[in-house]
Amino acid sequence: MADTPNTPLLPLIIDISKLDVQIAGLQAQLKQIETERKNRAQAISALELKKDARAKLLAEKRALSSREEKGIKVERDRINERRRALSTLNNYKLQQAAEREIDFVSKQIGQREELLLGLMREVETLDKDSKEIEATVSGLQGELVAFEAASQETAQGVQTRLQELQAERAKQAQLVGNNQVLTLYSRVAARFPSDPVVDVVNRDGCSGCHMKLGPQVAVQIARGDVVKCIGCGRILKLPAE
Ligand SMILES: [Zn+2]
Repeated sequence: MADTPNTPLLPLIIDISKLDVQIAGLQAQLKQIETERKNRAQAISALELKKDARAKLLAEKRALSSREEKGIKVERDRINERRRALSTLNNYKLQQAAEREIDFVSKQIGQREELLLGLMREVETLDKDSKEIEATVSGLQGELVAFEAASQETAQGVQTRLQELQAERAKQAQLVGNNQVLTLYSRVAARFPSDPVVDVVNRDGCSGCHMKLGPQVAVQIARGDVVKCIGCGRILKLPAE
């Protein structure tokens, strides 16, 4: 096929620009799916970290609590032993002194038991918290699995469509066959990804930036030439009637 200067390139460029908008939309959709998946996974890992921290604290408090319980039991046994031994003391003064000491130690043990009770309540609360977090994590994991299954199907559909559009775009670009025009289009599309090609309004105005273009521009466009707006640099087309 002869490369004539009259080959109307504008319609091809318009097609490419439409394909590009669709391609960008699908790519954004894929990105959104991926972003949501990541956000969900991140929320789960954050909760898992929290869960691990709770579990560690819980283990520490439990160990402390059981140590303290044993310690108190030993003290209790010892004091009971001494209480039993009281009767063997035949000296009244010695007996009195021993009783006072026993009372004193008993009070101390009582205080330790109060603290132990507080610790046990703390363990209980932590345990309840941990279980709640665990339930939340497993709920979120279930939701993530469901989301991944559903979005995988969507993503596959989008990918297929994307490949079709990209193949179509490659075909159109080949039809243009003019690298200068394609490069020009790429530059414009990079600057104005959503509307690289805009309508001429009222025969000589750019609808992108409202610049007056002069009467000659509409003639060039009608011929199929690729014309840039002198104001914003977008490619111009006549409005579809
Ligand atoms: Zn313009």
